[in-house]
Amino acid sequence: MRNFLDFHYLKKEKNDIEIEHFFDVEEVLIPLDFQEEYSIYKQKGDYIHIGEVIAKDINNFPIFSSVSGIFIEIVEKFYKKDKKIKFIKIKVDKKNNKAIFKSRKNYEKLTKKEFLKILKDYGLIDFNEKYTPIYKKFKELKDDKIKYFIINGLETEPYLNMTNTIIYEKIEEFKKIIDFILKLFKLENVLIIIENNKELSNFLKSHLDKNIIIKRVPKLYPLQKENLIIKYLFKKKYSRDLTKHKILMLNFLSILDIYNAVIENKPFIEKIITVNGKGVEKPSVLLVPLGMKIKDILEYCFYYNNKCRQIILDSAMEGEAIFDIELPVFRGTKAIIALNENETEKIKPYKCINCGKCVNVCPMNLASLKFLDLSLNETEKIKKYNFNKCISCGNCQYICPTNQPLREKIYYLKKKLEEVDE
Ligand code: SF4
Ligand code: SF4
Repeated sequence: MRNFLDFHYLKKEKNDIEIEHFFDVEEVLIPLDFQEEYSIYKQKGDYIHIGEVIAKDINNFPIFSSVSGIFIEIVEKFYKKDKKIKFIKIKVDKKNNKAIFKSRKNYEKLTKKEFLKILKDYGLIDFNEKYTPIYKKFKELKDDKIKYFIINGLETEPYLNMTNTIIYEKIEEFKKIIDFILKLFKLENVLIIIENNKELSNFLKSHLDKNIIIKRVPKLYPLQKENLIIKYLFKKKYSRDLTKHKILMLNFLSILDIYNAVIENKPFIEKIITVNGKGVEKPSVLLVPLGMKIKDILEYCFYYNNKCRQIILDSAMEGEAIFDIELPVFRGTKAIIALNENETEKIKPYKCINCGKCVNVCPMNLASLKFLDLSLNETEKIKKYNFNKCISCGNCQYICPTNQPLREKIYYLKKKLEEVDE
């Protein structure tokens, strides 16, 4: 397929990684990373229980403590060079950390309204759309019938390995919650999209409702993006807001979060993440508490301090390089990628040679090389280019033979455009 990249060589083909549970921490930093303003319900010295609401944003959306312990202080740290975030520092009291959330025995009797309330009250956010609360995706469909319910099992980004592992390990959980959602919303057209893997397809067919269609698609990046999958499946363009087309799409990880909230009665306090790259000796898939420090995770995976050149959060294509490993796992973190010298291979950018490769790989058909010469003051010109179409996939920068900083330029141009629009 044109305009897509294949990273299968940077991924594990077989399901030979297991999810490890890693909760042994001294201190966590719970990020207040969703909105500018939060109401914080605790103060210095207060005791906090695992699963307790410690803050809410201006929309009343909650943030939970992922551990039990003492509220130490609020700290502020740079996340990107132009962005600071506040965190609640908690010293972990391991006595109470094995708190058991009593599972909801009568979950099958929940009404749609009660179901949506749980998704909201338990702080669930969408895996793909990072900070979109999941309840909103359901709610925006209102009482209209959902035409297609699509479960997105694609993970085409380089270095990410967790989705297939999770599907194999958590299939019983998926079966329970998917059956429940199908019944509750009376869904008929249900599709599961996975990478072209026959073994996985047969595994899903043998465990899930026979009416669910399993569709295999090429392992190409960035096909996992919602609007690109839809374009691939239905052979026509849809607007980014899929709810307008009565399509509900959720990732397997979001479905697992729904299982935890609805059936296990557990709020959003933990995350499954991939740790990968040649900067760690032990690439892993880990279940960690929200707010766990990246440094603790890297040490657990035997981080080569002397060889590691760059740490990236999320994915090598779309993620952010971070410079402070005291930063924690955020609610939207998918992966920690530790790259060594060979993997980063930084060559200073030299002059664009107009090869056009960046245009050929753009799934949105944008000419990103044109953005390079734009100055941030040229607001009229910036407005003319359709930056909103850019899905920040990073393909253009990855393919560029002269290492032009295309993604960074697009980031600042988009930011400028936001300021102009305000
Ligand atoms: S890929 Fe790089 S060198 Fe080639 S046209 Fe695009 S910006 Fe220029
Ligand atoms: S980052 Fe934007 S401009 Fe570059 S390839 Fe992806 S969609 Fe196109």
